[in-house]
Amino acid sequence: MSLSKERMPKQQYAKPIPTPSPETQRYWEGCKSHELWLPFCRACQSFFFYPRRFCPQCFGWDIEWRQVSGRGKVYSYAIQHRAFHPGWAQETPYVTAIVELDEGPRLYTNLVDVEPDPNSLRCDMPVEVVFDDISEEISLPRFRPVLSSAEGPA
Ligand SMILES: [Zn+2]
Repeated sequence: MSLSKERMPKQQYAKPIPTPSPETQRYWEGCKSHELWLPFCRACQSFFFYPRRFCPQCFGWDIEWRQVSGRGKVYSYAIQHRAFHPGWAQETPYVTAIVELDEGPRLYTNLVDVEPDPNSLRCDMPVEVVFDDISEEISLPRFRPVLSSAEGPA
């Protein structure tokens, strides 16, 4: 699978598009299926992120990929009023965040379906992953607030 220019989507996506590497290929394949898969260390029984060939906690090389729940909470966030890249110029303000997954790892991501307003955001608010298909090859994980635990699947 390669990112060829002939297969660009019809609508212009003006932001940088990630390029899968051997270490991140499985991660992007999961995202393409709208599933979040992370590397899991069998030696110390923990997930980690970003993907790499050895465990950053115990330096073990016995790694496998496992699907995670896609649920977590906001560890920190920032409301971006200035675009750091022209592709985002029309979207300010928007919310960037570090989300701590229920399984432990933290992802740098965007929050969506929420007002870019400090009154609408708080640390520890529960969130869940949603996927944004930005090209035929790449879907980006973003997170939205979980409205009520009573509405979600048990
Ligand atoms: Zn480990």
